[in-house]
Amino acid sequence: MIHVDFVNPTFQDENLDKNVTCPQPKMTLPKTNGYPVAQEVKTYKSREEQVKEMKARGDYIGLLPAEIGTDYSFKRKIVWPNAIGFAALHLVALYGFWVLIFDAKVWTVVWTLFVAWSSGIGVTTGAHRLFCHRSYKATFATRLMLILFHTLAGQNCLYIWVRDHRQHHKYSDTDADPHNAHRGFFFSHVGWLMSRKHPAVISKGKAIDMSDLEADWLVMFQKEHYKTLYLIFAILLPSVVPVYYWNETWWNAFFTAYLFRSVLVLNCTWSVNSAAHLWGNQPFDKYMMPVESGFVSMVSVGEGWHNYHHAFPWDYRAAEFGSKYSISTLVIDALASCGFAYDLRTTPYHMVQKRAERTGDGSHPIYGRLAEKLETTGKLDDSDIAELLKTKETGSVRRLVTAQG
Ligand SMILES: [Zn+2]
Ligand SMILES: [Zn+2]
Repeated sequence: MIHVDFVNPTFQDENLDKNVTCPQPKMTLPKTNGYPVAQEVKTYKSREEQVKEMKARGDYIGLLPAEIGTDYSFKRKIVWPNAIGFAALHLVALYGFWVLIFDAKVWTVVWTLFVAWSSGIGVTTGAHRLFCHRSYKATFATRLMLILFHTLAGQNCLYIWVRDHRQHHKYSDTDADPHNAHRGFFFSHVGWLMSRKHPAVISKGKAIDMSDLEADWLVMFQKEHYKTLYLIFAILLPSVVPVYYWNETWWNAFFTAYLFRSVLVLNCTWSVNSAAHLWGNQPFDKYMMPVESGFVSMVSVGEGWHNYHHAFPWDYRAAEFGSKYSISTLVIDALASCGFAYDLRTTPYHMVQKRAERTGDGSHPIYGRLAEKLETTGKLDDSDIAELLKTKETGSVRRLVTAQG
């Protein structure tokens, strides 16, 4: 029977062959069932009383994301006008798609795709990477252009877009995340816009720091006049151009360049919140939900490398290898080469490597299975190298060669 004296523990020192008593600070510990507890558990009359005392001590009083979690029994209230509105919008967008294929002029098709692309760029390089994550800096002209492109997309004003996204990163996949992916594909895709916000989203949303955007008059101007700007840039401008320049009908222009295009871009953006949180691998962090998705990257002009993005949100490339399927990164690189964007932030390779080795699921082409094989056997087979070359990741191939020596 081993007796352990917690207050003055003793252990046998093999070298000294005698009992050594650890010096302990004098303190009296309360006992529960014979075992000491670290500190006395105090009961409070109310949460307010506890918070008051914690505040006085300078303790953290908010819940951590892991503590918030997901309450699956929570019943959401559907906001029917929104639900019916989104359903109707998708139906007319389907009609717009029919018009685009069978009735619209070729230049209208080109214009619709161009407006879709520009509004997508406004969301990814503008709202997301510049205004939300501050992953690079941009001149006034660039910021103005990106805000106009973002207005084209019609995804609410930039201020609200950024607040929701910052909250999504801070409380990813918990009840305080506006589009908690634990609630399933439909909810994280569009369902969150059709139901009342969870109380945790409302309370945590108030604490999101938006001071940088509040100090930017361009952002605040867009917020103040959003409805007018939306009318001009998201509806009128895309519809007027085909009518004025190549005699398209108002009907066709409105249903293709405005309605179909808006719904298409919305779904591409939403797929980052839904599909890129559900289906794919997690080479950088398997303990979070976001995944790497080539498909989402293609449809969202480069935002589908989402496991990397959640692991390193400050990286302007939002992916380890930069421009693979990432037109948004190409655009930022192009802007930077002309001096319109600067101070681009990236993540050092050693940091990516450490993270992939520590928390990745082993699917990273270099730091995953092949890295393990390289470490244990000292070399890779031709088939492994062929597999790696198939990924067309020049960065990883280059580093593999370095690793093989
Ligand atoms: Zn996400
Ligand atoms: Zn983000």
